[in-house]
This record gives sequence, structure tokens and C-alpha cells, in this order.
Amino acid sequence: MKKSYDIIICGAGCAGLSLAYRLCDPFFQNLTILIIEPESKTQNDRTWSYWEKDQGVFDPIVSKRWKALEFHSQYMSKELLLKDYEYKMIKASDFYKFCKIEIEFNNKIDWISDRVNSIEESDEHVTIHTEKSTFIADRVFKNFHDQSMDKNEPWYVDQHFGGWFIKTKEPAFDPHKAVFMDFRIDQDGDIRFFYVLPKSTTEALVEIAIFSNDLMSQKEYDKLITNYIRDFINIVEYEIEEREYGVIPMTSQFINKAEPATKIINIGTPSGAIKASSGYAFYRIQKQCQHIVDQLRANKELTSFFKKNRFSFYDQIMLNVLLTKKVAGDKVFTDLFRKLPVEDVLTFLNEETNLAQEIKIFTAPPWAPFTKAMIEELA
Ligand SMILES: Cc1cc2nc3c(=O)[nH]c(=O)nc-3n(C[C@H](O)[C@H](O)[C@H](O)COP(=O)(O)OP(=O)(O)OC[C@H]3O[C@@H](n4cnc5c(N)ncnc54)[C@H](O)[C@@H]3O)c2cc1C
Repeated sequence: MKKSYDIIICGAGCAGLSLAYRLCDPFFQNLTILIIEPESKTQNDRTWSYWEKDQGVFDPIVSKRWKALEFHSQYMSKELLLKDYEYKMIKASDFYKFCKIEIEFNNKIDWISDRVNSIEESDEHVTIHTEKSTFIADRVFKNFHDQSMDKNEPWYVDQHFGGWFIKTKEPAFDPHKAVFMDFRIDQDGDIRFFYVLPKSTTEALVEIAIFSNDLMSQKEYDKLITNYIRDFINIVEYEIEEREYGVIPMTSQFINKAEPATKIINIGTPSGAIKASSGYAFYRIQKQCQHIVDQLRANKELTSFFKKNRFSFYDQIMLNVLLTKKVAGDKVFTDLFRKLPVEDVLTFLNEETNLAQEIKIFTAPPWAPFTKAMIEELA
């Protein structure tokens, strides 16, 4: 017989676990919940940095927080002091462990190690076929995307990462300051920047992010990281404690193609949680999952959280400018941080600004290419 649940969460990634963690609240104790995830979720496969003003649900596992950031490009180096925001870092391995402990404690939530092959909706319920079994649910939250994005359709670009947690012999970092973006490296026709997240004077995550559809081998990322540490951190003696690599889609296609939420609700990446113009997703996923549990608590209908709105339009303009190289990426970010208070830019990236603030943002970089991109996007 097919086993039946009130809720099935397909994929225990950032979004699946952020939702499951919140569903551990006693308010939901009458719901039966299943999580289906093929991976063990024990590896530190990524590190999330994000900014917020208040305490977040996952504050207990924030491994480091900063009130000062640095920005570097060939045009400018600037210290960015935060007043209301804190820049926070969470290691994925800590996050997975933290959520799994809470879930194991909750005897209404089952977890199986399996891969979802198909999800079918009927009038009565949703049927999920996995590699090993079949399940039925009233409602399904789908956390993985099926790679169906069209890379040739505007606007799509991969953001790929290669990073090392390193430990130095001698003090090499200021633990009170994180490097938010460092564009001083050869852009090689892409948009490339490093970020450095120091935990102490001798420990830091040094990671490169590249906007380009040409992925690289681990060896190539490693070479870029080695060179950056040598040339910009100015050290040669260090140990590599951990490595992380990964790729995410930067596109408005998820939002533009979104269908009204039914019994199958996309969460995280397939719902458009990865901000198309920046790649940041952790904070957005927390907002999305909080919204879902608030709706469930109030017994309200679930709707798509990420919608076509002025922010998704801004993302399209930004991708248009960056991908058609109307203005170089390092120049755009330099102008933003040169001309505007850092908190205004961060609030904008979190999609929490008002129209007056947004006009200031769009008139900070050279306005002609942005106006041209806007006209193209409206056409
Ligand atoms: C290296 C790296 C660094 C990043 N750094 C940041 C950062 O600093 N700040 C930030 O905001 N964002 C960052 N991101 C972007 C984003 O936050 C992450 O990609 C985030 O993990 C996305 O969450 P998600 O839940 O959508 O997807 P994921 O966390 O990728 O979860 C998807 C889950 O679905 C599972 N799955 C896949 N196929 C199936 C299937 N068929 N059946 C069942 N389950 C399946 C996967 O195993 C996985 O557990 C980073 C991404 C990467 C890769």
C-alpha cells in the first residue's frame, strides 16, 4: 500500500530544511510529514553569507558575524560600515546538522533516503514516485529543480563558486571585517569577484564567484584561489581545511514561468529564490519559508511567494546590462558602493526598498545603459 502523508517535502536542501525546521513547531504536531532526500546532508558543501537587521531563526548556528565589510575593484577600495545590518555566515554542515537534530526529535516527521523521479497531481492528492517507492500526499513542497532552464533564453547565467577554508600560521586576517566583493582580479570576459570571510586572525573562507556559463574544473578554481591568496592576502604558508564548489542558476525564468501554486508548491531554487541579479538566496528562502508557515498557521491558501514584480523587472534590467556588457560588472558595483550608503544597496538587494530609494539606486551607475536596458526589457 502507498504510504500517505499530509505534507511531503522533496529535497532537504536549504529551503526543504528551513521549512521542515519551522514545521517542527508544536502547532503543526498533528501533521504527518515526510522528507525525501537522496544525499546524506552531512558535507559542508557550501557556506551561506547574508545580511539581516534582526535576529534570524538560524542565529544559533551563525559561525561568524561582521559589522564592517570591504569592497575592492580596480577603481576603488572602500570600507563599508554597517549600522543596522549584520553580515552573517552559516556553514551548510552546521545547518544540516541543526535541522536534522530537530527533525529526528519530532516523531511526526519521517525522513527517507531516496530520489524523487516524478510528481503527479490529481484532484484528490499528489503521487510521488521515487526510485524505491511510491507515496501520496495532500501537499508537496518541491525543493529541487529539474535543470530545464533554457540557457539561450534571456536572461540566464550560471554563477559558479570555488572556495577554501584556510588556516594560516601567522595572523593574516582582520576578523572584524569581511571582504564582501573583490573585483581586482582578471575578469577574463566574465564577472568575477572574490570574497573573504575571516573567522579569526588565522582562519578564513576565501571564495571566488564567477558569472559565466562556462564552468571550470576544480583545478582551475584552485589555481585562481592560490593566486588570489598569494597576491592579495599576501601569504604563502597555510593549510586548506575544507573546499567547496558549486553552481547555481541566475535567471528570472523560474519566476516568469511560475504557475499558480496548487497542491505542488515549489520552494527554494525552483520557485525563483535565487536572486537573479546577485545569486543570494539564503535570506530570501527564510522569508519564503516563514511566509509558508504563517499561511499554514492561518489556514490560508498558499500562493507563489516569488512573483513577477518590480524587483524581478529590476533583476532583468541588471542581467541585461551585465550580460550584454553594456557596463562592466565591476564598474556597476563600484558605482553603487561609491555613490550610495551600503545599507541602501543591501536593502535593495533584499527587495525591501521603496520606489524613492530604488530611483537613487538606478541613477547611481551610468544611467544611459540602464535606460537602454529598461527600454529593451519593456519592448
Ligand atoms: C557554493 C555555493 C555558495 C553559495 N553561497 C551563498 C551565499 O553566500 N549566500 C546566499 O544567499 N546564497 C548562496 N548560495 C546560493 C543558494 O543559497 C544555495 O544554492 C542554496 O542552497 C539554495 O537552496 P535550495 O534549497 O534552493 O537548494 P539546495 O540547497 O541545493 O537543495 C536542493 C536539495 O534537493 C535535493 N534533490 C535534488 N534532486 C532531488 C530529487 N530528484 N529528489 C529529491 N531530492 C532531490 C538535493 O540533494 C538538495 O538537498 C550558494 C550556492 C553555492 C552552490
